[in-house]
Amino acid sequence: MRKKLVAGNWKMNQDYTSGTALFSEILTMVQDEVLGNQEVVVCPPYIHLSTLSQLAKTSSKVSLGAQNCHQAEAGAYTGEVSVAMIQSVGAKYVILGHSERRQYFGETDALLAEKTNTVLANGLNPIFCIGETLQERESGNFLEIIASQLKNGIFHLNADQFAEVVLAYEPVWAIGTGLTATPEQAQEVHAFIRQEIARQYNAATADNCTILYGGSCNPKNASELFAQPDIDGGLIGGASLKSRDFVDIVKTFNGR
Ligand code: PEP
Repeated sequence: MRKKLVAGNWKMNQDYTSGTALFSEILTMVQDEVLGNQEVVVCPPYIHLSTLSQLAKTSSKVSLGAQNCHQAEAGAYTGEVSVAMIQSVGAKYVILGHSERRQYFGETDALLAEKTNTVLANGLNPIFCIGETLQERESGNFLEIIASQLKNGIFHLNADQFAEVVLAYEPVWAIGTGLTATPEQAQEVHAFIRQEIARQYNAATADNCTILYGGSCNPKNASELFAQPDIDGGLIGGASLKSRDFVDIVKTFNGR
């Protein structure tokens, strides 16, 4: 059975006080209410990782992730953060290829392939995001876009390395817009991604890969989305900033 996972991406939100309070609420609610084996990951801004990691020591269910990293191991890159630093404060995951990084910071598939290598070399797990824009969906060739993001960003890995990757399908038109992909639209792409993994590696690798859906996911639509056979959880933006909503989304997997 492949891993079920719900990750919250706080983006550039929460200061020290509000971030610590939000995380503490999430820890308590997860402890009291989450019954299954689903993994919970919180990805705050870098600056909070160290503090939240101390708080997370009390929880066996909640781990931490970064929202980005630099591709180099270390060096003269003012303002950047290395994977070794992220690892040293206790985070396990790094989000890579979020559409906001691709759009606002010009991150290309080639750069993301390098970042993926650095994340894996440091023993962390990438949450690797792919997804089409509205224009690409409307043009009808969105599956080709997804295939090319996989090919150029992540399929250079060997099967053992790929086994450490969590994928996130995030249609760009659904991120932060309130527009959610229908369960059928999301399932179509998730099944396609799994088929591409099987073609690149093998059926077992495809079957074991955790593929998250992201894009205006909330406590109301999560259960229908997560009931789809190829959707293994969610990457949650806006709703991860409210402890009640985030934990309710996580609880979709209770009893499954
Ligand atoms: C995201 O940024 O990864 C995301 C899915 O955002 P939202 O849930 O707000 O659409």
